[in-house]
Amino acid sequence: MTTPHILSLPYDVIENISQHLDLCSNTSLMDTCRHMRYLYLSSQYIWRKIVLDPAQTTDLHRIYSSLRKLGDANGLKQLIYEVVMDGMDDADLSPIVMLIKFPNLRRLSARYRKKTTDLEVDVKLLQEMLKFGTIKPKSLPLTEVRVYHFNMDFEPHLTAYQKTLNKVSVFPKVKLDIRPCGFIQTVGNGSGSNLNPAVMNNDRQLQGENDQREQLSDLPQDSIEECQRIISKSEQCWSCGFLFRYCWICVPVCDSCKVRRVPPLANDKQRLSRSKQWVSVANDDDFKVFE
Ligand SMILES: [Zn+2]
Ligand SMILES: [Zn+2]
Repeated sequence: MTTPHILSLPYDVIENISQHLDLCSNTSLMDTCRHMRYLYLSSQYIWRKIVLDPAQTTDLHRIYSSLRKLGDANGLKQLIYEVVMDGMDDADLSPIVMLIKFPNLRRLSARYRKKTTDLEVDVKLLQEMLKFGTIKPKSLPLTEVRVYHFNMDFEPHLTAYQKTLNKVSVFPKVKLDIRPCGFIQTVGNGSGSNLNPAVMNNDRQLQGENDQREQLSDLPQDSIEECQRIISKSEQCWSCGFLFRYCWICVPVCDSCKVRRVPPLANDKQRLSRSKQWVSVANDDDFKVFE
């Protein structure tokens, strides 16, 4: 009896497996033998997206050595469309470097880098690169950058960050995964106060925003302030999946299911444990079919 061998699998199956591996695992696999090397060097599909996964390795030497294998000579550098480095919280591994390294990069995801995310530093880095010609204006096919982490609070450099990314991209506007909350508060007598929250809670959120502006039309403009707290554009209610428009401090109750909101990290954990519960409920139902 012969032992099943990975090389006996069809090429497209190996390509599919590669999509579940991080970059270091893929470059290791590429280096195992001549056949693997041929497959990896001839595939465009494998390299469209590379993942740096801190659960697999945080060894910078290994990561750099893997990145070096994506070169000009073997043409791999040109094939990378997407880099995911979520949770890679090492100051020596800047997401901005990926923009220089991979000239065809479309999407860059560097979320959950709590210690090392610094939009001010990134703006300075990019502006220097523009100044010294390392990056040409309007030269990168960049469409989307993700930088959210759960401890984001206020981000005074967000506008500059957006503008600088727009400056290097061939597209007019690079999509970001964060934005200011934007909930309107009135400012007067030294303390801010939210406008009638009942309006916010009884209507759909967009409707709520319109009502907010109607209420404001009589007020002098300098007494109006929008909340600048950062919110992830994809933050959803842990209980009902509703996409939040405002931060949990401005609107403390879910507009859809009325559950009390919790900070983003707790919300995400609740959501995750709930989705696992649903999976186990579904599995229980599956078993009943066979009883
Ligand atoms: Zn807010
Ligand atoms: Zn809800």
